[in-house]
Amino acid sequence: MSVKAYEEKAGASGKPQAAGAEARPGTPEAGVAAASPKKPEKPETAGASGVPGVAERPLVWMDAHLHVDLYDEDERGPLLERAFAHGVAHVVAVSMDLASCMRNAELARRYPGRVHPAYGWHPEQPLPDAETEERLFAWIRARHNAGEPFAIGEVGLPYYTRTEAEGGGRRFDEAPYIRLLDRFAALAAELDRPIALHAVYEDADKACALLERHGVRRAHFHWFKGSDETIALLAARRFYISVTPDVEYEPDIRELVRRYPLELIMTETDGPWPFEGSMAGRKTRPEMTADVVRHIAAIKGLSAEETAAALLRNGRRFYGLEGADG
Ligand SMILES: [Zn+2]
Repeated sequence: MSVKAYEEKAGASGKPQAAGAEARPGTPEAGVAAASPKKPEKPETAGASGVPGVAERPLVWMDAHLHVDLYDEDERGPLLERAFAHGVAHVVAVSMDLASCMRNAELARRYPGRVHPAYGWHPEQPLPDAETEERLFAWIRARHNAGEPFAIGEVGLPYYTRTEAEGGGRRFDEAPYIRLLDRFAALAAELDRPIALHAVYEDADKACALLERHGVRRAHFHWFKGSDETIALLAARRFYISVTPDVEYEPDIRELVRRYPLELIMTETDGPWPFEGSMAGRKTRPEMTADVVRHIAAIKGLSAEETAAALLRNGRRFYGLEGADG
């Protein structure tokens, strides 16, 4: 899909959805959708998830890939606070460009230990000009020199922009995108920071080659999709993937979860990106990762409680986050 379509679907326009669309009877969030976001609420429990014998122990999880700065400005605080009240221990706030990096740095300062920022340049958009690119890299280095916690991301390759251009018979020059990703991989290696990647299908193979060239070992392929060979390649390198709420209805994602080692999986929403299935018409929120946990548990044949604990441990290990269960 085009950058425009991508941004529109991702909600970059900031257009709020109808409030009534959130509260659907019969969905897991129906009972809490009407509550004030400021009021602390009881987190969900293993008992509430239908796991026998483990009632009242809170389940916690994380959203390992959220575009929190793409929500309306006055919506971000309530969105995060409600998520934290519902058992989301951390969100990784990925960036689109330098302005987005700055907004996420501010949110990370406001919610230390809970909002973990990732700084980069999203690949499904035009490339930065030389001056903008230098300013972005200098700014990231300054965060490193200040000793701040962060990862590199969202960075990667423009699969959807490229394939849409090629499908329409237009030439697409991927080389400058490869060069920028190569520079981010080099930076991640130099600063010893984990990297959050947008690289799907054959682009994941290209990204793997770049990571290898720079000796980057801590890589997270967000919302990963790919061939059997690429899945095997990522697993062999011990790279992490993350799963979105589409695990509810996408057979390929369910099969990926079945095959991928549990200890290398994280949960995410890529919010405000909207989902279908039981989430159609609802605003994407970080606490939707609770449903992702339940689907992964069912596919892996494990309890929701042990799955939540494992997935949270993975995210904390990968991003270097602290927590009582970590
Ligand atoms: Zn993203």
